[in-house]
Amino acid sequence: MKHVLIIGSGISGMVCALRCAEHGIQVTLVSHVPSERSQSVMAAGGINAVLPDDETGDSIASHVEDTLKGGCGLGGKKAVEGLCTYGGEILQWLERIGTVFSVDDKGRPLSRAFGGQSHKRTYYCGASTGKQIVSALVMETRRFESAGLIRRRLWCCFHSALIKDGACYGAILFDEARRRLEAVYADAVVIATGGQNALFGKTTGSTQCDGYAAGKLFMQGAELKNLEFIQYHPTTMETPQKRMLISEAARGEGGRLFYRRNGRNIYFMEDKYGSGGNLMTRDVVSREIDALDEKIYLDISFLGKSVIDDRLPEIRDLCARYGGIDVTREPIPVQPSVHFFMGGLAVHLNHETNIRSLFAIGECASMYHGANRLGGNSLLAAIYSGNVAADEIAGRNDGGLHPDFRSALEHESKLLTRNMNTQSTYPVMYMRDMLAETMRTRLGIVRSEDNLKTGLTDIDFYLSIAERICYDSSVMPYFNYSLTAILTLARATMICAMARQESRGAHWRSDFPKTDEAYGSASIIAYDGGNYSVRLDKERRYES
Ligand SMILES: Cc1cc2nc3c(=O)[nH]c(=O)nc-3n(C[C@H](O)[C@H](O)[C@H](O)COP(=O)(O)OP(=O)(O)OC[C@H]3O[C@@H](n4cnc5c(N)ncnc54)[C@H](O)[C@@H]3O)c2cc1C
Repeated sequence: MKHVLIIGSGISGMVCALRCAEHGIQVTLVSHVPSERSQSVMAAGGINAVLPDDETGDSIASHVEDTLKGGCGLGGKKAVEGLCTYGGEILQWLERIGTVFSVDDKGRPLSRAFGGQSHKRTYYCGASTGKQIVSALVMETRRFESAGLIRRRLWCCFHSALIKDGACYGAILFDEARRRLEAVYADAVVIATGGQNALFGKTTGSTQCDGYAAGKLFMQGAELKNLEFIQYHPTTMETPQKRMLISEAARGEGGRLFYRRNGRNIYFMEDKYGSGGNLMTRDVVSREIDALDEKIYLDISFLGKSVIDDRLPEIRDLCARYGGIDVTREPIPVQPSVHFFMGGLAVHLNHETNIRSLFAIGECASMYHGANRLGGNSLLAAIYSGNVAADEIAGRNDGGLHPDFRSALEHESKLLTRNMNTQSTYPVMYMRDMLAETMRTRLGIVRSEDNLKTGLTDIDFYLSIAERICYDSSVMPYFNYSLTAILTLARATMICAMARQESRGAHWRSDFPKTDEAYGSASIIAYDGGNYSVRLDKERRYES
């Protein structure tokens, strides 16, 4: 029987596992925390789709057009067409497996508009869409777990892939309970490890998403794409632990951004862009806020208590609990913060990387969003990509025999034992904090050559000491062995941002403020024994 190893059990990982199991494939589903704690649970505002019985005048063609426009010329047309074509089917499937969507009095799912959309096509479950989808997927996964087709491996971390001669045969995992490394062989490995939030420390997302798998695979020969495109969400609320997302649903329902001057509220987005100003794409709104030296507020109070209670209860509760704000009476202080990564592992249309039998799906893969993602499209992409990879794997006839990786496992195990027994004076978590500070200050909403160069110098310094100081027995071994790969990913990101000498979507350069068609292709970065090489994918090799 075919065996697939899936690393990551958020929405994309679970969907891929389900589809593989439906194809009769044996699945091992690995994650360091339960699905209920994956970042997918945080998704708030909704998922985009055009329903087959749509009566609003929306169409798949306009969903494609909006997505490509939002991606500023870097989204692949074929890939986006596939994504949007299956939106309606995916939504209906989610309903069938028990996702509870908000509905109107006739029982039809309700939709709202997100930034950059020509129609209201974001379907939602209040403001807890991710939680509802994850719950339904967990229940569905259990059916196949009891049938023995899906085996969950919890509290397990990815260590490295088993790669030989350009093909992948499985992965080495770190089992936290047994505190040891283990080789798991598979006919295909699917990486579904989410974004790279932890590189930036405090973001809207989860620090579990640290980009380690992408960084490690990059060091093992996988190519990365469009790393410079990092989405700053314009409306987040500062708390001591993280930046709490004030979902775009708030602006989708009519919320207005403003600042105060001389006792007057200045609705700067409406003043500049007209009545749709508050719902401009996230890159545009974030840049407008960044350019103002003002305290920015988001007002939803005028919607009234009953609309807020009905449609935005999670935002009401979140503001009350974390900010002591009654949104029915007062505005929410907001600021932009790192939220989503358009870049990641470079994949072909079938979601295979440049390494045979190694796939990537969900937020860790770069495919649909180009230079800027539209809200509501990433849940759709997580589900769609999980299905695409599973169908591709099911249709393959290769697999079976694999090379012997025992000596590689022994070598890595020895290194890990040495790490676990070494004391460091420089805590590894301190290194992560320093990196986050560098990333936040050097890779902000607006970048420049000088700033990026300083960032690169900082990261080079961290890398030069990482191997010597990354051993700290007071933290999980994962934090120790992951440091170098995370720093390598950060370095690659900085290099990509320096190489793109133009402004496009979420990548804005003060020294190159114009979009330059010479850069109208995805950037691909490769690593060869310590050498990083960036190129533009002018032939669109990854889209065929
Ligand atoms: C606050 C917030 C709100 C959002 N709202 C929306 C929305 O309304 N609509 C929308 O479309 N998108 C939204 N997004 C984005 C969307 O939620 C994500 O892009 C999507 O859920 C990612 O799913 P995923 O399966 O790729 O990854 P994740 O859900 O992040 O899952 C990653 C999995 O990988 C595991 N993992 C990570 N590293 C390792 C490792 N080294 N070893 C083993 N396991 C590992 C984790 O434990 C987890 O199981 C939002 C994001 C945030 C942060």
